Amino acid sequence: MTTASENRSGRIFALIPAAGVGKRMGAGIPKQYMPVAGKPMLARTVAALSAVARIERIFVVVSAGDPFIDGVARNFGDRVAVLRAGGAERADSVLGGLAAAELPEDAWVLVHDAARPCVRPEDVDRLIDAVTADAGAAGGILAVPVADTVKLADAEGRIVRTVPREGLWRAATPQLFRAGELARALGAGLEGITDEASAMERAGAVVRVIPCGADNIKVTRPGDERLAQLILGENTMAIPDIRVGQGYDSHRLVEGRPLILGGVRVPFERGLDGHSDADVLLHAVTDAVLGAASLGDIGTHFPPSDPKWKGADSGRLLSAVMDLVRARGWTVVNLDATVICERPKLGPLKAEIRENVARLLGVTPDRVAIKAKTNERMDAVGREEGMMAQAAVLLARG
Ligand code: MG
Repeated sequence: MTTASENRSGRIFALIPAAGVGKRMGAGIPKQYMPVAGKPMLARTVAALSAVARIERIFVVVSAGDPFIDGVARNFGDRVAVLRAGGAERADSVLGGLAAAELPEDAWVLVHDAARPCVRPEDVDRLIDAVTADAGAAGGILAVPVADTVKLADAEGRIVRTVPREGLWRAATPQLFRAGELARALGAGLEGITDEASAMERAGAVVRVIPCGADNIKVTRPGDERLAQLILGENTMAIPDIRVGQGYDSHRLVEGRPLILGGVRVPFERGLDGHSDADVLLHAVTDAVLGAASLGDIGTHFPPSDPKWKGADSGRLLSAVMDLVRARGWTVVNLDATVICERPKLGPLKAEIRENVARLLGVTPDRVAIKAKTNERMDAVGREEGMMAQAAVLLARG
């Protein structure tokens, strides 16, 4: 059988077949999408492999009609590609993925179960080190030495004998082989093939076992996801994807204009001057949302030079911005905003303003705080020449 040679490619890729329907878990969704520690299992598995810096690209192989993958893949990162090349059986998905990924024949490919979200990046690194350093091996797999006493029993559950456990391993993943050799081994037929290594063994290849932690479990039966959650809780610190943004705005007070704050008409003898309705509070909130999502500012999206926004309801501008950030997966966690003016007193209208801003942000009012301050008669705001507003918003995506 072919052996690794030093002048062949050292490029390393990963392939995660994830086209299964998870019959054993009995859940309404395929098991790779079931939540583990608050995230879809597939997202956890991809994140574990993404922590291995040497992997050039990770291919996730799903079925052609998979309706779940787009929502999950949004957060995969630049090194991950989704291939809709899955088949009925795992080996079909591996073969389909190898073909669709168009990997060089001699590239290394780590095939990893979508249902093993707890694999440790350092174990994957040891697998790569061991296999690529061994010129006599065609590949290798992560595996767990059998620690329990092993019994062979008959169909009635009676022990026939005790099997010596020396040399027995439980095969795990990833399993690392050259892409071309693996495709040929699997392509020779799938009868009796339960993992990539078994196809390579049948082809006469030397395949190594590299020990990994017993916590590299395969989530297979109901309850396994809770075990995975416990393991991940010990080994990883989940950093939520959250972003903070701040916004500031000011407008002059003039005669003959209505005063609009937070989309609510406020009874007052003067109003704020501006191209749109000059809602100083909603402008600060809109800039805070745009800032949190790193999507520019209100002036770039709604330029004052554009007659389209003349007299515009600023609630419509904020709604348009919320559509933008939602399309990128963000939701609002909370908003804290302050309006600074000497008059009028906003107290009686604060609840209405809060409810309207919450509605525009798509959250319940308990996530919105609207505060009012005077400027203690200092400076332009203190002389009632204008009003200012400040806002801080927190966005999150799962
Ligand atoms: Mg403004």
